[in-house]
Amino acid sequence: MSHVTIIGAGIIGINCAVSLRKAGYDVTVIDRLPPGEGCSFGNAGVLATSAFEPLAGPDTLLKVPGWLLNPDSPLFIQWRHLPRLIPWLAQYARAGMFGDFNAACEALFPLMAPSLELYSQLTAEAGVPELVSRCGGLYVYKNKQQFELAGAGFQRRRERGFDFMALDHTDIRDQEPALSSDYKWAYLVRDYAHIVNPKRLVDALATYAGSLGAEIDVDDVLDVEMGSEGPKTLVTGKGNRPLDKLVIAAGAYSHHLCAKFGDKVPLETERGYHVMINEPGLLPSMPIMDNDVKAWITPMEHGLRCAGTVELASLDAPENHRRAQVLLRLAKRMVPALNVTDYSVWMGRRPTLPDSIPVIGPATHVSNVFYAFGHQHLGLTGAPATANLITELVAGRRPNRSLSAYRADRF
Ligand SMILES: Cc1cc2nc3c(=O)[nH]c(=O)nc-3n(C[C@H](O)[C@H](O)[C@H](O)COP(=O)(O)OP(=O)(O)OC[C@H]3O[C@@H](n4cnc5c(N)ncnc54)[C@H](O)[C@@H]3O)c2cc1C
Repeated sequence: MSHVTIIGAGIIGINCAVSLRKAGYDVTVIDRLPPGEGCSFGNAGVLATSAFEPLAGPDTLLKVPGWLLNPDSPLFIQWRHLPRLIPWLAQYARAGMFGDFNAACEALFPLMAPSLELYSQLTAEAGVPELVSRCGGLYVYKNKQQFELAGAGFQRRRERGFDFMALDHTDIRDQEPALSSDYKWAYLVRDYAHIVNPKRLVDALATYAGSLGAEIDVDDVLDVEMGSEGPKTLVTGKGNRPLDKLVIAAGAYSHHLCAKFGDKVPLETERGYHVMINEPGLLPSMPIMDNDVKAWITPMEHGLRCAGTVELASLDAPENHRRAQVLLRLAKRMVPALNVTDYSVWMGRRPTLPDSIPVIGPATHVSNVFYAFGHQHLGLTGAPATANLITELVAGRRPNRSLSAYRADRF
């Protein structure tokens, strides 16, 4: 069996390592950071199994001008980066307004839908079943019109066999007594689950991959040397490494590596933030999403996490802690009795393509290179199914559905 090098030890790369190792490949994962220290460190933990609709729809795009004028809104642009961002934003808006909505749903559905089942199995195998909490999720609204507008999307989930329930303010109080009475309407999504510590999940799966025989190395990939039949050597901070097969799971940095293989992929980073509130005094029973700020409060094993928002800047722009303060204020508004005196803040770089669909599949021009990146707001959810698909492709098997929506050269 051949050897596979994976660049990236985030949730995508580590899931690929487990899946490829189980299929019998020798596996080496290389990351400049220890496992789970990139975007996968601090997400909201939600396994959004029924979130198969692309985020950039006409409804969302129409709200953007209003959001840009409000510093507490879900979207913030660091204006000095706007000239560089304009072409990507134009592609994003075009995909949202005129893209094939049904095709995007068909592409996202098989990545998201099996997530809970796959993680239940993986965490059991890794000896950490307690990391998956099957408590559902709650989308809450102050405004009846927004609640009703969202109804069509929830109905489409029902048509695909997912379960949800509309709640009024009395039901909400019964469900979450500590939640602010400003929330008058909600959808309870019963098929959601969440990971109670996303960093510990990556660590546990990395340890599991190691126990199966995968090698995980902290090292910086600097360059790739090409031979006549594709990439031959990986140039890293620790020296040169010979290559057989290569998987690029480098999150928001993946496009730099794809460019070496002639694939120009319009990957941008949607920076998101969290505040992790230690000793909050009380916890909701499940993750709750505020529809105005589009952020989750999630009960974690080590406190309450409020995570979300999008900041467009650049990969290396400094962190903007005002965005985290928006989240801290939101958490306190959502659950007024929270104790928010002790907290930490974090920023992560979501890897996002203009059509909200990841790139999964072979490189366009060279053999033995495979891509697995661009999972935007749903990388935790979509990682195990992505990894299984990558394993099929590395093994040379063609899955019995079209993979064209994930192609690197679709733009
Ligand atoms: C605030 C926030 C909330 C979120 N909430 C959710 C949620 O509730 N549910 C959900 O499903 N998803 C959520 N997400 C999205 C999810 O976290 C991401 O989609 C996912 O973490 C991406 O994983 P990744 O492995 O592709 O990237 P990463 O975790 O960033 O891993 C990529 C790795 O590649 C390494 N790397 C890059 N280039 C090189 C190089 N040249 N050499 C060596 N190493 C390299 C990096 O160091 C990094 O560790 C959220 C994201 C954010 C920011």
